[in-house]
Amino acid sequence: PVAARANQVWKVYGSGEAQVVALREVSVELQRGAFTAIMGPSGSGKSTLMHCLAGLDSVTRGDVHIGQTKVTGMKDKALTKLRRDQVGFIFQQFNLLPTLTAEENITLPLSIAGRKPDKAWFDTVIDTVGLRDRLKHRPTQLSGGQQQRVACARALVARPEVIFADEPTGNLDSKSGAEVLSFLRNSVREFGQTIVMVTHDPVAASYADRVIFLADGSIVSELYEPTADTVL
Ligand code: ADP
Ligand code: ADP
Repeated sequence: PVAARANQVWKVYGSGEAQVVALREVSVELQRGAFTAIMGPSGSGKSTLMHCLAGLDSVTRGDVHIGQTKVTGMKDKALTKLRRDQVGFIFQQFNLLPTLTAEENITLPLSIAGRKPDKAWFDTVIDTVGLRDRLKHRPTQLSGGQQQRVACARALVARPEVIFADEPTGNLDSKSGAEVLSFLRNSVREFGQTIVMVTHDPVAASYADRVIFLADGSIVSELYEPTADTVL
């Protein structure tokens, strides 16, 4: 089954002289349980593609599906609900709420959706991400790597159709980055989680099953089973 797909997607910002074509007829299918990295130079359309796939940005032409649901043309309210229930996000800047504990940050999206965390699943996620002894800490009491692992747990605990990670290791030293990447890798392998990650880092991309390279708004090449050598 396909977790998300873009079908002949164009994204144009602005109009007239100021017009920028960010995506040129991009088609891509993300299989459920796959870990895909998106790479490419600055300005090549990586963030735009991710935002379109996640239903955060509308497309100019073409369409996007998340699971079986066609996102393109959806009303705002339905789209908000779909994103809340089916999509998880991990950001470069962690984006945790400073007044909440790690545990409260992790369960917040579920609370907002009116869902109760399943205790057994919550415990599995916490143990997989190695945060058992940090649950009562606030973000300022945690290292960058720990904060990003909280953000990873927050994304995974709702079991979304797709997790989108935007430069998840961009603010981390290599050891903390490796812990975050191992967690993402493990959640793919053990739980069949689908993940899409934008990254500049060939080592980060080497954890993925597939790397898509963008240039000037188009997919220019793809690599399966990458290693750090082949990504470079
Ligand atoms: P990347 O993530 O690969 O750096 P982006 O998707 O951010 O690339 O940007 C692709 C192109 O679209 C760039 O030329 C960028 O300047 C342009 N762009 C991105 N967002 C906007 C926007 N909101 N308004 C106008 N142009 C934008
Ligand atoms: P463990 O499950 O024992 O914690 P690791 O954290 O070392 O194992 O790795 C988790 C997953 O990430 C494994 O599937 C491993 O093959 C993969 N992995 C570890 N290091 C790299 C790397 N440098 N490049 C690509 N994949 C890696």
